[in-house]
Amino acid sequence: MSRALNVSVLIACAVAGAVVMASWQGIVIEDLKHFGTPRNSVIEGDTERTIPLPDGPAMRRSAVIVPETSGSFAFLFDDVSEGPVRYDPCRPVKWVLSPAGMPRGALPMLHNAADAVAAASGIDLVYEGTTNEPASFERELLQPQYGEGFAPVVVGWSTESQNPDLAGAVSGVGGSSAVNGAYGEQRYLRAGVMVLDSEDLRQLAVAPGGEARATAIIMHEWGHVLGLAHVQDPNELMNASSSTLTTWGPGDLAGLAIAGAGPCEDV
Ligand SMILES: [Zn+2]
Repeated sequence: MSRALNVSVLIACAVAGAVVMASWQGIVIEDLKHFGTPRNSVIEGDTERTIPLPDGPAMRRSAVIVPETSGSFAFLFDDVSEGPVRYDPCRPVKWVLSPAGMPRGALPMLHNAADAVAAASGIDLVYEGTTNEPASFERELLQPQYGEGFAPVVVGWSTESQNPDLAGAVSGVGGSSAVNGAYGEQRYLRAGVMVLDSEDLRQLAVAPGGEARATAIIMHEWGHVLGLAHVQDPNELMNASSSTLTTWGPGDLAGLAIAGAGPCEDV
């Protein structure tokens, strides 16, 4: 059995929460509604940037998923008082593809994995096309090339020699930043990153049954992007070294439903 078939994937790569501090830059009507509560901002490098207001109404884009299964799941960021840190389910979670190094035939796997995570979570994942931005956890959360809001989830490809995070049996890393909303203490996941090992997935995809397995690896990384952590149970796709599963396990489904049932940011 080749190493690729044994590919046990996946370390959780969660980006630390961004630094947040008060700011009064660019006062708008929402700021006046929150008079006395300073608008939050992030520091990126030497630059302080005001946290953007959410785009559109605070209404869910698709129904809350009611899981019919139970099992093991865990969250990467779990605030004591506010619960797990999740994406805002009232806004689309946009994702872009950084195609450099992508194995031939991988695009349908990416879309199938995104469809699987959207269906299980009730989060509206919207593909926005390709980008020249490399997939890196060093990225800035707010980038003018993507407009006013947070940068979309970036999905890209790398190799062990280019990215030490992919050393050994790790076939991908994924995660998002936990960032305060425009006001107050509630945190949301933002600007996720997924880096896939192009060599591992290229080898895996050409093996018998490998395409489904490679898709499952991408699903696992999406789980991290939506805030899920590893679990011990080998019957869950969020197990750190699952190597045979090709569909969500019962705990994965329960966890993803919760990941998609977070609070909407309402300013
Ligand atoms: Zn993992």
